[in-house]
Amino acid sequence: MTARWVELADGVLVRRYAELDLSVGLLLGDHHAVVVDTRSNPDQGAELRTAIRQVTPRPCTVVLTHAHFDHCLGTAAFLPAAVWAHSRCRDDLARGGAVQHAEALAWSRAHGMPRDAALVRPVVPDHLVTNNVDVDLGDRRVQLIHPGRGHTDHDIAVWSPDTGVLFAGDLVEQGADPDFTDAFPLDWPTAVTELLQMTPRTVVPGHGDPVAAEFVAAQRDDLAVLADLCRAFLAAEIDHDAAVSLSPFAPPATVAALARLDG
Ligand SMILES: [Zn+2]
Repeated sequence: MTARWVELADGVLVRRYAELDLSVGLLLGDHHAVVVDTRSNPDQGAELRTAIRQVTPRPCTVVLTHAHFDHCLGTAAFLPAAVWAHSRCRDDLARGGAVQHAEALAWSRAHGMPRDAALVRPVVPDHLVTNNVDVDLGDRRVQLIHPGRGHTDHDIAVWSPDTGVLFAGDLVEQGADPDFTDAFPLDWPTAVTELLQMTPRTVVPGHGDPVAAEFVAAQRDDLAVLADLCRAFLAAEIDHDAAVSLSPFAPPATVAALARLDG
């Protein structure tokens, strides 16, 4: 499996993985470092922990952007550590991880990749974000932001004010359509607008390459078009087929978004 570090700013890195086109963040401080997401299982988390040790000897604080399997099931490799997440992410992981495990198995089967069938209980975050929280790394601080419902009801973005780098989790997606499986399509554009108010120089999506704010604004605009189509569908002004054909996103993504309107 190929993986590589890319330095986005002084002491702010992203580790890019071919599997899932995943991006994991690392922010270095003189007291400790923050790692943004931990990959899909404890072995992958251990690979990441080893790779981080080659960059910094400092202890790691973990931030989980959300409770999808590919972002949170590697956390055990970082313990003991403070693990930050939204309170609803904590609640989700405290249920024991069966949902994440099933998602991981389904993904592995679909991609013909072996995966241990044994359920690994996820680490339950012990530091909670409800709105916004500052985390002090010693010589710099980062801000953990919950911009409202979007990709899930508990997304956290990590903002580095001194470098202008924003780790957006799956609120932003590059190289594929956004994932609406657990999304709130009517609210998602507003959450992205909230992130853009930080005026980031570089935005790191949960999947895909780092992007500029202009890319994020364009994706927000597409999300807003879809949200309008969803509202028109709910008002019976257009039918399902019309919503799919008019959407800026591919049919599977739009169908998934429309299926989320009942909740
Ligand atoms: Zn996700």
